[in-house]
Amino acid sequence: MTSNRVHRIQPSRTVEMTSRVAELKREGKNVIRFNVGEPDYATPEHICQAAEKAMSQGFTKYTPVMGILELREAICMKLLKENHVRYLPDEITIGAGAKQCLLAALLAICNQGDEVIIPYPCWVSYPELVKLADGEPVMVPGREDFTLDISAVRKAITKRTKAVMINTPNNPTGVVYDRKSLEELAALAVEYDFYIISDEIYEKFVYSGKPHVSPSSFSEEIRERTILINGMSKSYAMTGWRIGYTAASKEVICAMNVLQSQMLSSVHSLSQKAAVAALTGTQEPMQSMIREFEKRRDYMRERLNRMRGISCRESMGAFYLLPDIRGCYGKSYRGILIEDDMQLSEYLLEEAMIAAVPGSAFFAPGHLRFSYSNSMGQMEEGMDRMERALQKLF
Ligand code: PMP
Ligand code: GLU
Repeated sequence: MTSNRVHRIQPSRTVEMTSRVAELKREGKNVIRFNVGEPDYATPEHICQAAEKAMSQGFTKYTPVMGILELREAICMKLLKENHVRYLPDEITIGAGAKQCLLAALLAICNQGDEVIIPYPCWVSYPELVKLADGEPVMVPGREDFTLDISAVRKAITKRTKAVMINTPNNPTGVVYDRKSLEELAALAVEYDFYIISDEIYEKFVYSGKPHVSPSSFSEEIRERTILINGMSKSYAMTGWRIGYTAASKEVICAMNVLQSQMLSSVHSLSQKAAVAALTGTQEPMQSMIREFEKRRDYMRERLNRMRGISCRESMGAFYLLPDIRGCYGKSYRGILIEDDMQLSEYLLEEAMIAAVPGSAFFAPGHLRFSYSNSMGQMEEGMDRMERALQKLF
């Protein structure tokens, strides 16, 4: 009795893995979580206080569909100051997380059968969100080192191409696209008249001084064709507050607002006040979190590369590493033979009680995604356990 639409969509494998690990934890199993897609830090105090204050002042009603003006103004200021692109408050709309913004944007631009090019490895939800919007995901491989392969994107363009959906810094690879490849993509968007959906949710998580580049800052022409998606979840450790935003042309934002008026009414009022505090208040807690993540990345990568059968590339951003695990193929322990990333993920969960997401969930078979959003103590323990479990295979 349920819709064909639902049957076309896969449930989110990252969300599934999170529930599975939570279940194991409830059973008292000491699982170390390298699967998590959220900062392990608490939301900074001043942000929580802003929500408390709003609640005590009775700010507990619906807000405008597109979000409160104060928040949209704060986002415009942030985009101008940090991303060097000017948007007006009515070119911004707030959603219940970047995930919901992505869906609303796709629903606003896709007609049945419109193609959305997705360079991969990519976040699990991208192809499913496109399908939910009746579009066709067109999966295009990245280069060997996971960077954007512009010539592959160019080859995939057809008359039905509506958008190219990118994510930099990238989940799951940690790659940060450089300005040149983004400029080349932008030139294609103008030449073939399609949108760039630019998911910048990990923008703060760039290391080694590598800059984050927003394609909409290139020119007015590109800005018109870019749908910039971002949110509070990762940068401010605010995943549960569910605040994401879209910055785009008025035409796209108006279309999204029509949809959101029927789907959402408005986003949580207190979370919006908290988001204003996040954007306008001190940035120090966020900056110190990022510094800590950089140390964790270096530690984890070094440990992974010392293990037999594992090879891990550099990662410049987000909080994920995507090591190649194919060196473990054909190995076995107590009758368990490792032949793919799903089997290794299972083996590590069973044998070492560590959770990492199979790369195939992100169109990266032969890899596992490790999140380093975990304390140094847990990382040391988890890497020790993994090392011991892998030694048993060799
Ligand atoms: N984009 C990417 C690439 C992500 O990894 C996530 C993480 N959930 C999101 C968007 C959505 O974030 P949220 O809905 O929490 O804002
Ligand atoms: N984005 C995170 C991840 O990739 C959170 C879970 C999800 O929504 O996918 O793990």
